Amino acid sequence: MRPTLLDPLFADATTLPGIGPKLGKLLAAFTGDKIVDLLHHLPSNLIDRQYRPSLTEVEDGRIATFEVEVVKHEAPPNKGRARNLPYRILCQNETGYLSLVFFMARGDWLSKAMPVGAVRLVSGRVERFREQLQIVHPDHMLPKPEFEKLPVIEPVYPLTAGLSAKVLMKAIQAALPLLPALPEWQEATWLAQQGWPSWQQAVMQAHRPEANNALDAQHPARARLAYDELLAHQLVLALVRRQRRQLAGRCFDSAGDLPTRLLQLLPFPLTGSQQSAIADIRADMAAPMRMLRLLQGDVGSGKTVVATMAMLQAVESGAQAALMAPTEILARQHTETLGPWLDELGIKWQLMTARNKGKLRAQSLAALADGSVQVAIGTHALFQDDVAFANLGLAVVDEQHRFGVQQRMALSTKGDGTDVLVMTATPIPRTLTLTAYGDMDISPMPDKPPGRQPVDTRVISMDRYDEVAQGLGNALAEGARVYWVCPLVNESELVDLAAAEDRAKALRRLYGDRVGLVHGQMKAAEKDAVMARFAAGEISVLVATTVIEVGVNVPEATVMVIEHAERFGLAQLHQLRGRVGRGRDKSSCVLLYRGPLGETAKARLGIMRETEDGFKIAEEDLRLRGAGEVLGTRQSGLPVFRLADLEAHADLLPAVHDNVKLVLERDPQLQSPRGQALRALLYLFRRDEAIRYLQSG
Ligand code: ADP
Ligand code: MG
Repeated sequence: MRPTLLDPLFADATTLPGIGPKLGKLLAAFTGDKIVDLLHHLPSNLIDRQYRPSLTEVEDGRIATFEVEVVKHEAPPNKGRARNLPYRILCQNETGYLSLVFFMARGDWLSKAMPVGAVRLVSGRVERFREQLQIVHPDHMLPKPEFEKLPVIEPVYPLTAGLSAKVLMKAIQAALPLLPALPEWQEATWLAQQGWPSWQQAVMQAHRPEANNALDAQHPARARLAYDELLAHQLVLALVRRQRRQLAGRCFDSAGDLPTRLLQLLPFPLTGSQQSAIADIRADMAAPMRMLRLLQGDVGSGKTVVATMAMLQAVESGAQAALMAPTEILARQHTETLGPWLDELGIKWQLMTARNKGKLRAQSLAALADGSVQVAIGTHALFQDDVAFANLGLAVVDEQHRFGVQQRMALSTKGDGTDVLVMTATPIPRTLTLTAYGDMDISPMPDKPPGRQPVDTRVISMDRYDEVAQGLGNALAEGARVYWVCPLVNESELVDLAAAEDRAKALRRLYGDRVGLVHGQMKAAEKDAVMARFAAGEISVLVATTVIEVGVNVPEATVMVIEHAERFGLAQLHQLRGRVGRGRDKSSCVLLYRGPLGETAKARLGIMRETEDGFKIAEEDLRLRGAGEVLGTRQSGLPVFRLADLEAHADLLPAVHDNVKLVLERDPQLQSPRGQALRALLYLFRRDEAIRYLQSG
């Protein structure tokens, strides 16, 4: 049960002045529909209204505040084109004249609000128009008794269509007096050491800024709220993780006969990273608790073999294993790699995707349900409701960032005590690993298989397109295979498709039918056919929208050209580049950009040239672009925070982790007064689903 102390915060936003049902709906989608959601909507800007110059000295373009007297109104004529002229109110004070300008004004309202002779405090951006000072649509026009209502530092909030600044501001200000004082969930000595206010004070200060540094990430109010949000998140991950460890799992404690035989089939020795990941997984699977382990290794680090070893361990113990890939193409590719190995080992496997329909699907379902299929490889079709496994012991999820956390959880419900292995190549900065994946155990895979050649990366302006396109001729003459990626740039997929089609046409003029095209609008079977022809070398140039982004393995491909490289995230460029440099031959990557590039864009592409270390790239990208852009995306796998900025508040993370660890050691069920306060914190941040993992008490 939510502590009653929090009730005022969970009242509907529509109980606030100015928020009707219509705005309530809008808010539900934008900030959340409870008062607490509005309070977690922090200002993104400040307007400083302390500048009070004379009218002779005021600088153009600045926000300024003046006390003036209304001299006269100049309403536009009521007919003809002149009626589109603005309504002007001439004001003065002892230092000069100032016009207030209103477009589409309601004259009757203005003459009532601003009668001639009245004294007003007006504030807004000053500009000079035909030698006259004016303010267009002043932000404030206050009568004398309300002068002190002018916010000295005014918060400015992110808005959405249909929501005005004034309305939002008023609602939030009206919510502030409702803030309850909550029991403190942070350690008193820590708070004192940081100089942070209470939660109540912090929220208040965030919405009633008193100085120009109020938006700084390190401002005590902002830092405290960020810490609170990170704390709630991390606490949940820790609770989920602990809960899972208490769940009964199964012991897959076989002799390891099948895995050993697989090793004998492989044409290469395992890397150190592969060996230690396999050891981690073996230990997890042999132990009587449920495994949830993340295999975190860059593209090409050889995760597939590790996953296969794990699946064999389950199979050897008589259970089934499933491998789920995010796309049809990838699922197929997995069958091409694993299929022959599994066949050799005499294991029954099956591909299952959305394309299995009708009779075929019924057969597949039956084989999974009666256990005659030991290994299933597929897309999310594997985990539809009507799919039942006889005995699912291990679920492997490839490229987890395409799956939500819920899906990752749902996997283990397909079997009884099913172990879960998640594989990701998303390079997120090391500092953020726990924040993203704190509910899982992690096996990092820093080593790459030996013998890879570095990819020669060049950043080239689109002005030199002809040169690049002609240059491919040499590579093709030597038998190279080339990816040419056209990004999804526009809102409309059709426009993007047209761009890719045009490119394919242009390249066909040079290289004829050695050029193929694959894009997101094609049917899966068509896509596969094109990919297969590329893999077989029947096509040498594959023009693609970003469908080849994840996981595709064509070792013979040695050239990657990426158009509009400046529009991609670095993580994505890195993934794409990882498609080449997989074989013995020297590979190259051409990043084509359309100039002019800003400093940041230049620096970002520069990083791609300098390094192939995915983590380093992620860290640099974070530094250059900021957390919002890099990490706020679905791709990153990271949760989206409202109060914390993962870049600016990264230094808080270690403290948050320590705090959570300590708290759960001392008070595992959160029953002490501080534990109770932490429960309130979880409710506050709407993470209370984790509370059911605590024993009631
Ligand atoms: P990813 O981690 O990106 O999924 P893959 O598992 O697809 O990587 O492996 C990439 C390529 O490296 C494959 O062709 C695979 O056969 C090969 N490979 C995997 N492990 C090794 C190894 N230890 N030595 C040499 N090549 C390896
Ligand atoms: Mg892979």
